[in-house]
Amino acid sequence: MTETKYVFITGGVMSGIGKGIVSASTGLLLKSRGYKVGIVKVDPYLNVDAGTMNPYAHGEVYVTEDGGETDLDLGHYERFLGENLSRKHNITTGQVYLSVINKERKGEYLGKTVQIIPHVTDEIKQRLFSVARETGVDVLVVEIGGTVGDIEGLPFLEAARQMYVELGSGNVAFVHVALAPVLSTTGEQKTKPVQHSVYELRRIGIQPNILVVRSPRPLEAEARQKIALFANLSPADVIGDHDVDYVYEVPLLLESQGYASRLISKLGLQDREPDLESWKLFVDRLKGTDKVVHIAMVGKYTKLKDSYLSIVEALRHAGVTVGVKPNLVWVEATDVEEGKIKVEDVLSTVDGAVILPGFGKRGAEGKVKAIRYLRESNIPTLGICFGLQLSVVEFARDVIGLENANSTEIDPSTPHPVVDLLPWERDVNEMGGTLRLGASEIRLVKGTQLYDLYGRDVIYERHRHRYEVNPKYVDRLVEAGLIISAWNPQGLVEGAELPHKEHRFFLGTQAHPEFKSRPLAPSPPYVGLLRASTSR
Ligand code: GLN
Repeated sequence: MTETKYVFITGGVMSGIGKGIVSASTGLLLKSRGYKVGIVKVDPYLNVDAGTMNPYAHGEVYVTEDGGETDLDLGHYERFLGENLSRKHNITTGQVYLSVINKERKGEYLGKTVQIIPHVTDEIKQRLFSVARETGVDVLVVEIGGTVGDIEGLPFLEAARQMYVELGSGNVAFVHVALAPVLSTTGEQKTKPVQHSVYELRRIGIQPNILVVRSPRPLEAEARQKIALFANLSPADVIGDHDVDYVYEVPLLLESQGYASRLISKLGLQDREPDLESWKLFVDRLKGTDKVVHIAMVGKYTKLKDSYLSIVEALRHAGVTVGVKPNLVWVEATDVEEGKIKVEDVLSTVDGAVILPGFGKRGAEGKVKAIRYLRESNIPTLGICFGLQLSVVEFARDVIGLENANSTEIDPSTPHPVVDLLPWERDVNEMGGTLRLGASEIRLVKGTQLYDLYGRDVIYERHRHRYEVNPKYVDRLVEAGLIISAWNPQGLVEGAELPHKEHRFFLGTQAHPEFKSRPLAPSPPYVGLLRASTSR
């Protein structure tokens, strides 16, 4: 068995310049050459996982098959690689320190002073080695979150530097992603910030092998020369990464400049002809479709679109399959709730809607209002998780006539808790990692729209929720005309829909099928929504 090689991806100048996409693209380009690849995200914050963070701060919490609550970059990695990763592919400072401190308490370092170097850096290296060993990959791409120079990131960069020394130059490569801004006054592409971030990296002891230069515009020859000179690199190792319409174009942009071949030669691997045909076809179709469908996105974190990243991507994937381009109309549920916007004003012109997932009271009544309008106006609607739960609330109130029916998450003293905590969930008093998380079995009911979309009896989709449709109310919901289209093995509701003859498409899932949507394998409920939204 060959030893795993490591590619560290660092970022310079500022965060949010697309390091995650470069990392995902690196994975795809290596995989397209027949190499087995994994991608790890290192997050230098002290949270143990992303589960306890507000989506406003970091965007969506991405859930892995094994129930890890991870950084949204894991979603990019899975979508680009077309493979499932595990919770071990997201390492945070919180995890590293927790484990070092636990070991210290157990006496594993007895007699020693426990320090960042070597104890914390050893823990980081061990975690990377263990992912490599367990997955048996040829190359492990490791994205280090944040920006070079951040205090939090230093132990991770130090661990990477040590790995280069210990494993040898042919086994570890460094890719640095930095920003070359364009001045709005003169239109000039500025290279100084890139140079400075390379200096910063060198100060830590790391010489990048390849620079990926983000810029609003294609990298100019002169800028490339200048950056190469200052960074001690050949101009061929300075790769441009300018703004494009879709993140899926980035691997092709990097490939066209020989990025992966250069990287492969640094790693002493054999270069092979990449197989990118189906990816190219996907990108062509993505860019080529111009038939627009307007899809309302009803949620309460709509100001930061990254809060719902996987859903946005799932709609894109489904759009390619259906042959339409979803135009997303963001509807802020709190504004509906507070009467700042009227549902008919924002929803009367859309072709379909997604009721987005969420937590807590704020905005929930706004979502219920939107659901009522969409149901009564026969507009195709897909409810995800909280979206399903609130659709049940709306149905209970308006169709069955259960006044003030609610989820106990929103109104703990509702007379009709149609969505509730299960008895064993009531005793949970820790917030981190205690939701129902990860993929589990879902049994679809023959003859339902959901069944037809999947065409299978059993599916596995990922969950992230605490509350359930209350089993005590299921009979009454069904008597009133709601169809339960999916169950879990314990008899809890996993999906519900209205009969097709009553509504063109009104369907909700307790799971989050968007997490498993891939460019070349779109998620069935999203395909269903877009088909229905197109067929007027
Ligand atoms: N807040 C709901 C629950 O905990 C729904 C969660 C979600 O939409 N992800 O069950």
